[in-house]
Amino acid sequence: MDLSSNTVSGDLKVRFTPDMATDRLVFRLWPNGPALAGVGAHLDVGDVTVGGTGAATTFANPTTLVVPGSYPAGRPVEAAMHWRLTLPGAVNDRVARIGDAVRLGSFFPILPWEPGVGWDTEPPPPQFAEASTAPTADFDVTVSTTPSDLGVLASGAQDRPGHWTATAVRDFAMSTGRFSIVTAVAHAPDPVAVTVGASASTGVDPAQFAAKAVNVLQTHSARFGPYAWSTYTLAITPALGGGIEYPTFVMQGPSTIGRTTSHELGHEWFYSLVGNDQGRDPWLDEGLATYAEGRYEGTIGGMRTTSIPPGAAGHLGEPLSYWGANHSLYNQGVYIQGAKALATLGDLDLVDCALRVYVARNAYRIARPGDLIAAASSVFPDAARTLASFGAHSSS
Ligand SMILES: [Zn+2]
Repeated sequence: MDLSSNTVSGDLKVRFTPDMATDRLVFRLWPNGPALAGVGAHLDVGDVTVGGTGAATTFANPTTLVVPGSYPAGRPVEAAMHWRLTLPGAVNDRVARIGDAVRLGSFFPILPWEPGVGWDTEPPPPQFAEASTAPTADFDVTVSTTPSDLGVLASGAQDRPGHWTATAVRDFAMSTGRFSIVTAVAHAPDPVAVTVGASASTGVDPAQFAAKAVNVLQTHSARFGPYAWSTYTLAITPALGGGIEYPTFVMQGPSTIGRTTSHELGHEWFYSLVGNDQGRDPWLDEGLATYAEGRYEGTIGGMRTTSIPPGAAGHLGEPLSYWGANHSLYNQGVYIQGAKALATLGDLDLVDCALRVYVARNAYRIARPGDLIAAASSVFPDAARTLASFGAHSSS
């Protein structure tokens, strides 16, 4: 990362074994979606090789790089490329630069492979949201920064200066800056090393966020099953209104200690551990994270009785493309309606139990609505009918 040139560049090497034959490799370049490209972000790639040999590439659209070829099932393929990201300014999004505080989320080319299905090529969202899908993988990341004394907080664990590993995660994200750092340990139920860093310019006391994160980790893990990793890192940076979740790593803004903390931690179960296609089935992560938030914050009762507006009511299962055209309804239609649908199933302790079943059956996978409905049906015989009344169906 070189702030003097306002760029981040890197060399990416991917080892990938498709479980089905395919005639292409696909990489998603999320910074080229309309929201970030519109404020000056750009991700470029070059020197693409497959198996060490130069490979031809095409762009299906600015966020979708295609490497045609013949890739049989079960045979590992190694692809490599150089990438270069131009940073936008102090925007309220996952890639941003505010002085020497830099947010890097969904920032490098990533493989959108869904095992058993193939490539997920949903369009990028027009607004602040994510449409990504990625299988779980092991990341080995070397980071150097200019200036060289910047702090770095990231997914996974730092095992030596400038080097991180993150195991069994779908993505890798990081933030840089001048951080005030506090550490703590949660028991979720195994020990989890919690690190919270607050950018100096935010004026935030990281100890308060760390105490809340520990409490939420322990509460969520008791409800939904053990937290799956040994670290959790939270980076508080300026010019961010809410939170953005990544595996074992979350970005939050300065004034977000309340429901944002419990919501984003909910995503460590719903998105991070149990994955989903966030473009096709956004309710599977946002509705369930909002349910986790509502359970922790004591707001689930209000969510259960809230009235969902026309255009959103009964449309829970719609893809992100529907909500992009109806953005003012997205929060009510997916977040609140998703939590409401779950809470309507019945006794909340039993809903938690159904979600534990869903997590246990689908951990590290990319789940579909039918997987959630099946898990819910194991506890509530009427679950499919109840969820269908909100617009969620197995076939969607
Ligand atoms: Zn969320």
